[in-house]
Formats: sequence, C-alpha cells, structure tokens
Amino acid sequence: MIYYRESEPSSEFDKLRKRMVEEQLITRGITDERVISAMLKVPREKFLPPDLRPYAYKDGPLPIGEGQTISQPFMVAYMTEGLELQPMDKVLEIGTGSGYQTAILAEIAREVYTVERIASLLEAARNVLGRLGYTNVYFKVGNGTLGWKEYAPYDKIIVTAAAPEVPKPLIEQLSDGGRIVIPIGSTWSQRIAFVTKRGNKVSMDWGIDCVFVPLVGEYGWREDYQ
Ligand code: SAH
Repeated sequence: MIYYRESEPSSEFDKLRKRMVEEQLITRGITDERVISAMLKVPREKFLPPDLRPYAYKDGPLPIGEGQTISQPFMVAYMTEGLELQPMDKVLEIGTGSGYQTAILAEIAREVYTVERIASLLEAARNVLGRLGYTNVYFKVGNGTLGWKEYAPYDKIIVTAAAPEVPKPLIEQLSDGGRIVIPIGSTWSQRIAFVTKRGNKVSMDWGIDCVFVPLVGEYGWREDYQ
C-alpha cells in the first residue's frame, strides 16, 4: 500500500485524481465539460478521515463516520451531469455528508443550499469547504425531506440518500422547469430518478441502479428502518 501523508506535496493526489477522471468517468460516458473540470479540481482526499485518504480515488464509496458514506466518484459525476447544471443555478442538496458532492456543485452553480441531519457531519463539511475557499454554500442541520423553504424555489435539487418516493416538499420547492435527481427504491437498493416539473406536470425518467444510505425522516424512512 502506498501511504500519503497530508504534508506531502499534493502532486500524487493530482495524478490519482486525473486518472480517476479518465478511467472511472470519461470511459464510462461522462461528457459534461463542467462536471469533468469540477471533478479534476476538487481534492476528494480532503473530505475523508486521514486514515482513508490513500483510498480517495478508489472506484467506490467510503465510510465517513456516523454510519454514513461518501459516494463513489462515478455516482457523484453521474448525478451532477443528470442535474444539467447551469452557472446561474441555485441548487438545494439534501444529505451533505462529507461535503464532497457539495464542492462539485459549488464549482459549477451560483449557490448551493445544503441540508444534513447529523450535526457533526455538517460541521466537518462546513470546515473543509471553508478551508477550500467556497463562499457560495449555505448550510443547515435538519430534516432535508422537508427541503429548505426559506430560500425556495430552487432550479435544481439533488438528494444523496435513498428515498421511498420523491418527497412532496421538494417538488413544491422546485422552480418551474427545474430538475430533481434522487435515488428511489428500497432501503437496500435503488435506481436514480430524474424528475422534471413544467407547470403542474411532474414527469420522471429512470437512470442506473445504485445503493445509498437511507433518507431518514418524514417523507423518507423511519429512524428504525428495515
Ligand atoms: N453526498 C454525500 C453523501 C452522504 S451519505 C457525500 O458524498 O459525502 C447521505 C447523507 O444523507 C448522510 O450524511 C445522512 O446523514 C444524510 N441524511 C439522511 N437523511 C437525511 C435527511 N432527512 N435530511 C438531511 N440529510 C439526511
């Protein structure tokens, strides 16, 4: 195993990041230039506990504490591409976790509003995003299935935890012409859904299969989900 200390020059991580983008993203069909440049730029290793940093560019999810995970790089790229982000977009993210997906969104969109139910994870994400210099991210601890009404409507909404269905408050807080990307299914396996809203019409398309930790709360799963 190659072990990289934090004090070492970041060039090794830069190389691994470039390789991840080529081998895990581009080869598998990610084409959105904005997504590719954001994934080339954001240092994923900074969002991980120190002992897991050597695995930062591995092709899979990793534990971040509190029983939660940072999503696989490909899944982050796939969901972000599915949002069809524009530079002026205001984005709502449910499930901040490590804050890595938040950084990718903040690279591309104008503003990101992110909600996490576990306070310690939100604080860690707030710290790392602050250290990396992001000034267009707004944080909230709470039940994200209720959205974040105060700043609605949002052009795009991304949910990075598994839901039984699209939470109604999120559809209400979406702009006309807006888009939601969310994993829908059971607590152990889901499929990515792309939801669009035009006037009163809400339509849904399906993407790839996935496995996310459950979205907990009203409009999500109960705390003691099975
Ligand atoms: N995008 C994150 C994924 C984190 S895992 C990353 O790549 O790091 C999903 C996160 O959703 C967990 O941190 C979990 O605590 C959070 N979560 C679950 N239910 C939630 C809810 N109702 N509101 C807000 N966050 C929730």
